[in-house]
This record gives sequence, structure tokens and C-alpha cells, in this order.
Amino acid sequence: MPELPEVETVRRGLLPVMEGKLIKLTAVNRPDLRWPLPDRMAERLTDVRVTALRRRSKYILADLSTGETLIIHLGMSGRILISGHQVGDFHHDHPAPEKHDHVVFDMEDGARVTFNDARRFGHMDLTTTKDLEDHWLIKPLGPEPLGNAFNEDYLTDRLRGRNTPIKTALLDQHIIAGLGNIYVCEVLHRAGISPKRKAGQVSKTRVAQMVPIIRDVLREAIQAGGSSLRDYRQTDGELGYFQHTFRVYDQEGQPCKTHGCDGTISRIVQSGRSSFYCAQCQR
Ligand SMILES: [Zn+2]
Repeated sequence: MPELPEVETVRRGLLPVMEGKLIKLTAVNRPDLRWPLPDRMAERLTDVRVTALRRRSKYILADLSTGETLIIHLGMSGRILISGHQVGDFHHDHPAPEKHDHVVFDMEDGARVTFNDARRFGHMDLTTTKDLEDHWLIKPLGPEPLGNAFNEDYLTDRLRGRNTPIKTALLDQHIIAGLGNIYVCEVLHRAGISPKRKAGQVSKTRVAQMVPIIRDVLREAIQAGGSSLRDYRQTDGELGYFQHTFRVYDQEGQPCKTHGCDGTISRIVQSGRSSFYCAQCQR
């Protein structure tokens, strides 16, 4: 499942193809993804210019010349493919349409952006740009972990008195937007905090230490995603899924990578999700 760094990587990959460019034609091949798609979606996305391509949490936001914003969520298995776009020495011809190509954007310069989603947990919606912050998907979101509103005072305040495990609290999108299971496991390992510890019982000092760790973990992953963008043109034009080595995620039974720790990574299940951690150095 794509998390914030993967979505940011997709956005960056789309920038040269979509931002400032005219969408000449949009094809919408089914009435719904996870939820019903907006009325007259194809029409509202034809002959419009993308004035900016932004990201909020795990949503890609395309601001349009019509005063609307297209909200794109990749869900569990959503993929975005670019074809027909000349970048450097690489050129992907338009591939034959595939079964799960649900929405296809044809850009003015011949590039094609295809949204393919086999499981259809993804979603797209259109809203007026000025009302975006009140959109039901956007309104409940906490601050961006890489933005200024997220800082140690804010996090200390939100965790105070909470009886839920710190792992669950960090996954709560009302507290921080865009952090998912993989990167929360990595953050807690780097911070030396057990995923089982109650959120309200993490000391102020350790909460303060966690803020830059959250930013570092995400920035490093975004950087790894950036490297993958340089490679994708040589493969099949698909954006956003890259090989990334995790210190604890999916490393059950492996030796702990913390310097000087001889522990082993274990897996437990919390709120239905796997937590990977080292019981020796995460307290
Ligand atoms: Zn350890």
C-alpha cells in the first residue's frame, strides 16, 4: 500500500507531464472506484489546464483552470503509468489498454497518464479549489509531518493522556496525516520506543526526539523514491513503487540493526496491523 513517500514520488513523476499542461481528453471507463466517481467527470476534465500539482497526506491534488481540484487517492493497489512522453533518451509508446485502466488522461503534448487499479480501493473526486479544506476526505486530516504545523509542542499536546499504544496514535490520521504502518515501525525503531508503550507515557524528551526522526525517515524514503524516478523511464513507465530497505519492517527474525544491540526483530499484531520491533532496544 502506497504511503506518503510513494505518493510524493508519484506526484514528482507526474510534474513534468501534467503541471502547467492542458488535459486534452479524459476517459472515465467506469462509474465508480471505491466510491462513485463525480458527475460528468470526463467532461469536467477535458480541455482544462492543470495549474498546480500538489500533495496533501496521501492525496495527489491537481488544481485546474476551471477552479476545481481533482483529488486522487491510490488506495491499496492504484498505479499510475505514463506513456508517450519523451524524457531524455527514453520513450514509452502507449501500451494496449489493460483491463483495470479506469481513468485515462491524454495531455496536449501526446503524453498519456493512466490510472490502473485492480482492487479499486482508490478514489477520485472533484471539488471547488476554494472549498478543498472542507472536503470530507481532507478536513479530518492532521498536519503534514513535513510541514511547520507539526512540531514537538503539537505532538506532545496530542499524545498527552492517551492510553492507546504509541503505534496506534502515530497511525491516527487526525494526529499526523500520511504516516502509515511501514514508516511508523521504522520511526519507533529509530527512536528506541516500544510500539506497545502507551502514547501518554512517552516522555516529553522522547516525543521531542521523535519529531525530527519522523521527518528524516520520510525524507530518506522520498529521496529513495526520487532515485527510482530516474529508473522508471527505462522500465515500463510506472511511477512510485520502489525498492527500499527497511530496518525493521518485514524483518521478523533478522538481527537488529541498532548499533550495539544484539536483539532480534519480532512481529506482533496491534489493531489488526503487524508491528515489527526489537524488544531489546525499544522500550
Ligand atoms: Zn535492537
